[in-house]
Amino acid sequence: MNGRQTNPQNNRVPAQRPQSGGTPAKRPQGTPPRRRRRFRFKPNKEGMQALLILVLLAALIITVLVLTIKGIINAVTSDPESTTTAATTTGETSTEPPVVAAWRDGYVNEIRPNTDVAVGDLILVNFEHSYPLTDAIKSKLTSLSADKAYGEYFVLREFEMKIRGEIITELRQMITDLVTAQSTLGTSKDGDRVIIVSGHRTTDYQQNLYDNQVTENYVAIPGHSEHHTGLAVDLKVYTSKQKTVEFREDEQAWMEANCANYGFVVRYDGAKFELTGILDETWHFRYVGKPHAQYMTDNNLCLEEYLTMLRTHHNVDSEAPLTYTTADATYEIYYVPASVSETTDIPVPKADSVTAIDISGDNMGGFIVTVTK
Ligand SMILES: [Zn+2]
Repeated sequence: MNGRQTNPQNNRVPAQRPQSGGTPAKRPQGTPPRRRRRFRFKPNKEGMQALLILVLLAALIITVLVLTIKGIINAVTSDPESTTTAATTTGETSTEPPVVAAWRDGYVNEIRPNTDVAVGDLILVNFEHSYPLTDAIKSKLTSLSADKAYGEYFVLREFEMKIRGEIITELRQMITDLVTAQSTLGTSKDGDRVIIVSGHRTTDYQQNLYDNQVTENYVAIPGHSEHHTGLAVDLKVYTSKQKTVEFREDEQAWMEANCANYGFVVRYDGAKFELTGILDETWHFRYVGKPHAQYMTDNNLCLEEYLTMLRTHHNVDSEAPLTYTTADATYEIYYVPASVSETTDIPVPKADSVTAIDISGDNMGGFIVTVTK
């Protein structure tokens, strides 16, 4: 190659390289000796061009190779770098005292066992979350046939029907007010009355219902029914002709407008089937507690949506709890995730600074604190 400039006299050698570009006259292929000579001499213009292009191409290929290798090396080394940076940052943050949101300045910790995540008015029970205490809560149930409004304001599909003791007062009041407000409903057997079609259900009972359901997506899988909690009731009308029918328009409208005032929500809106897994059930009422029922109703949120909102936007580390004012009081509501140990420290205001503090599990790994101001 060094000889290429020292033999200018030979200009007959064809530039055979395809890279030579240009439009040289066609030259016949040389004989073997010619080819050897061609190798030694490239002084003419075309040859020089070809060489230059060759050199440039080689340089280009080398550059590309170098850059590629550099890129690979950078990619390999930059990951650990960024990880290290992040880890360092995290490390620095964690060595400092945890940042406490200003709104819970002065709060104290209340310790709860993590098993309490399944306890409370706000527990979520659906196709994704089963209820672990179905048969364990029997002692907390109360017989509906023993209630003072039984017979006069409501009847029962089954005499043995039970419900959570702590919601009987609200349920009775709601039914009594419904009957009082609706001229279509009477209080004697000569008139139509409310019938409680379903209250608490055992797992076996739900299994039987599930196995015998006529239409899919109305009966929850055993273990996944809200009726296991004793916090849900199915309400319909028992006519003077002893037939069970759904609420008529006025009765349904009254229930939808007022049930939240007693802490209940119309739990299954067909439009939210994707979230609840249950089709429209106008008769199924679920107790969640007053401020929650009112907020959910006012904002058209099903329980799944409401709990997600609290967990996402109103948790202990959020800028603020959910503040909600009803006719009765102002409430602060926030979410606390259960810890990985056996108990969870739940920050709450000092008891003497507020009217009431209620803690409910969400049956999904966290607690909801409701502070009545
Ligand atoms: Zn139901």
